[in-house]
Amino acid sequence: MNIITIDGPVGAGKSTVARTLAKILGYAYLDTGAMYRAIGWKVYVTGIECNDENLERLCANTRLEVNLTNDIQRIIVDGKDITSEIRTPDMSRMSSVVSAYEPVRRYLAALQRETGLIWAKQHGGVVVEGRDMGTVVFPDAMYKFYLDADITERGKRRWKELIDKGMEVDLTETIKKIEERDANDMGRSIDPLKKADDAIVVNTTKLGLEEVVEKILEKIR
Ligand code: C5P
Repeated sequence: MNIITIDGPVGAGKSTVARTLAKILGYAYLDTGAMYRAIGWKVYVTGIECNDENLERLCANTRLEVNLTNDIQRIIVDGKDITSEIRTPDMSRMSSVVSAYEPVRRYLAALQRETGLIWAKQHGGVVVEGRDMGTVVFPDAMYKFYLDADITERGKRRWKELIDKGMEVDLTETIKKIEERDANDMGRSIDPLKKADDAIVVNTTKLGLEEVVEKILEKIR
């Protein structure tokens, strides 16, 4: 099965690189962070307290659909399309909070595995992007990459992304939030963000999108 995993911290360039790579190879692209955002969103709107029991129940009672429409991944929760709503700083924080709970990780990892395998079959391959793709969800993937970059560069990228969306955000504050989220993702006891032993590291600090994609394609070819 043609599965390529891309993991790494916030702002390392994972989504853009994964999307571009998938397009070049004719593969599907699965953004697993969006699925954590979906659960974070539901916790946020229902206002439940985060604990294993509540989250287990919430996952059991959630219909999470991940659809590919014209190469765009849409996230539908209980029939409501929340694709755009989950792209806010609040939802970034919420997704990281819920991602530390075992019932959430178990529920989403199973769904990610299932979706990834179906899409790989349908499209001839899949590029899966997240935090534990190479370590936990697809440990037998054909190729594994770990993208990283300096914190200042990652902060600038995320800040620009939010500004371009019309949000009023401060660079120093954005960097602080990224550091907090990374610390949370790397420090959690279940499936923390870390490089898989057999993943290839690409530092994207000084590289443009095309150069990163070219580096990855070189390894694959
Ligand atoms: O990639 P994105 O910023 O959308 O991910 C949101 C959050 O979801 C991450 O900060 C992380 O806490 C969580 N996540 C995860 N495992 C994944 C993908 C995302 O824990 N495979």
